Amino acid sequence: MIKLSRPDCPEELEKLKDELTQEYKDTKKTVWKRKFITVPLLKMSNDKCAFCECKLGEEGKYMQVEHFHHKNEYKDEVVDWNNLLPICIRCNSHKLDHDTYLLPIIDPTQIDPKNHLEFYKYRMLGKDDIGNLTVEVLDLNNTTEIATPRFQIGNAVLEKLEDVLEVVQNFDVDSKDATEKARVIRKVRALLKKSTSVNIYCATVATVLLTAPDYLLLKLEMEKKALWTVELQKIEDSVANIALDQRERF
Ligand SMILES: [Zn+2]
Repeated sequence: MIKLSRPDCPEELEKLKDELTQEYKDTKKTVWKRKFITVPLLKMSNDKCAFCECKLGEEGKYMQVEHFHHKNEYKDEVVDWNNLLPICIRCNSHKLDHDTYLLPIIDPTQIDPKNHLEFYKYRMLGKDDIGNLTVEVLDLNNTTEIATPRFQIGNAVLEKLEDVLEVVQNFDVDSKDATEKARVIRKVRALLKKSTSVNIYCATVATVLLTAPDYLLLKLEMEKKALWTVELQKIEDSVANIALDQRERF
């Protein structure tokens, strides 16, 4: 889970909010299933579930509009823009009518998950009560559904890191070949880009990459050979922004 920036309320929703809210109260219809709601929600999360970060739109993972404060109890918020999140069916089926006023969990558009969650062996752990409850309510460490995909994607990035480190180590610092230098920088950029906020399970990927011993070696080697650029540092900063702390001891 990463922090999401919610854009302004779509104009059409602003105009129709009262009407749709009343319609829901009268008929219980799914009044939130409108393109002017779903499209900007998906854009906000880069087509990912706001909770577990799986890709939405893939087989069996259609987007659900989540009412953070559940709609049965808090009907006035049924199309309140700030109450809506794009999530997957799995997360929806776990959260159900959990009352987030009485027992708060993380709303990633309001608070930064990094302050409440940490990472240990591909599992998300709470740093505090809200973190613990978020993991529990959403079943964020389910082996088959979440922890295994997290491991697969994290391991793929570590394999890529090994390859890129080799390329950097083999780069001849005395070479006058600008093409080769550009190629090395391009490979490191591509590796870092795999861990930015647009990628699925990016909180995991970012954490795994930045805490890998090979990554530290890679950066040192890049700096030593004057290959580390301002642009790479900027991408690394954005990756560090979404990476979770790794729990080292209990
Ligand atoms: Zn999900």
